Amino acid sequence: MIPATFDYAAPTSVEEALSVLAEAGDDAKVLAGGQSLLPILRMRLNAPEKVVDLGRVEALRGVRDGGDHIAIGSMTPYSEVVGNALVQEHAGLLAKAVETVADPQIRHRGTVGGALVHADPAGDVGAPVLALDATMVVVGPGGERTVGAGEFFHDLFETAVADGELLTEIRIPKHTGWGSAYEKFVRVSHQWSIVAVAATVKAEGGTITEARVGLTNMGSTPLRATAVEQALVGKGTADLADACAAAAEGTNPPSDLNGDADYRRHLATVLTRRAVQHALGG
Ligand SMILES: Cc1cc2nc3c(=O)[nH]c(=O)nc-3n(C[C@H](O)[C@H](O)[C@H](O)COP(=O)(O)OP(=O)(O)OC[C@H]3O[C@@H](n4cnc5c(N)ncnc54)[C@H](O)[C@@H]3O)c2cc1C
Repeated sequence: MIPATFDYAAPTSVEEALSVLAEAGDDAKVLAGGQSLLPILRMRLNAPEKVVDLGRVEALRGVRDGGDHIAIGSMTPYSEVVGNALVQEHAGLLAKAVETVADPQIRHRGTVGGALVHADPAGDVGAPVLALDATMVVVGPGGERTVGAGEFFHDLFETAVADGELLTEIRIPKHTGWGSAYEKFVRVSHQWSIVAVAATVKAEGGTITEARVGLTNMGSTPLRATAVEQALVGKGTADLADACAAAAEGTNPPSDLNGDADYRRHLATVLTRRAVQHALGG
């Protein structure tokens, strides 16, 4: 189908984008890589009067070293994130998760910021960003504010970014030297996650001293498996099964044609053990 008619704006700065959004009010929609928005417009599930394309706002693209964190511009495409040396060194978990998103064409166009604001619970960016304790920078008519990843995801397709606001940057504390793995379970390649687990661990002599675990598609938002994170401290590869047994605790996974909720709970437990084992180098 062809989208309904809309006006198009292509600002070149964040300030200009905000002013176009403010002028258009509720009838505007921000366009990033378009990999989720364009199918929505083509199916006429949304018909904004104005589309504000961020593609020419150079300031929103790229990865920089922020000292104790790395800062990823919201318009940075997946393909740049995967290949970026700073991301690989300090937030390896994110690079591994992003590498599993869809196919090369979608990774070339789709952006980290677009994925986070779209907030599909089966998306592969939310869980690693949550596990890595990222902070989101949001700007709007009232100025700039920061939102912790734990407060960013409100519900299915709902985040802390309000109409008229922009997600500009994702700040990830450096996890230098941490092992990481993203275990994504799909039935066919390039599929969305049926369940996935993002794990990153710090270890000394094969024993875990700190652990972070995020779950994809185990509820209406990405989730942290905090009980598992605590249970993993002091453990090594030989005794991961017990520590990972509580991976599905407090989750509310969907039931659909790919699997019912109980099957997903089982998957979460198995994938958590595998992800932690791989993060430990096993
Ligand atoms: C065939 C197919 C397969 C896919 N498979 C996967 C997969 O396996 N795993 C996965 O994680 N994803 C998958 N995706 C989704 C893909 O990752 C999308 O790119 C992503 O969800 C949205 O990013 P985008 O840059 O394209 O955003 P857009 O589609 O342009 O925007 C998405 C939403 O976010 C808003 N928005 C975007 N940027 C900002 C911003 N900076 N500030 C405020 N609002 C903003 C838009 O208004 C829109 O509502 C798939 C998509 C397709 C088409």
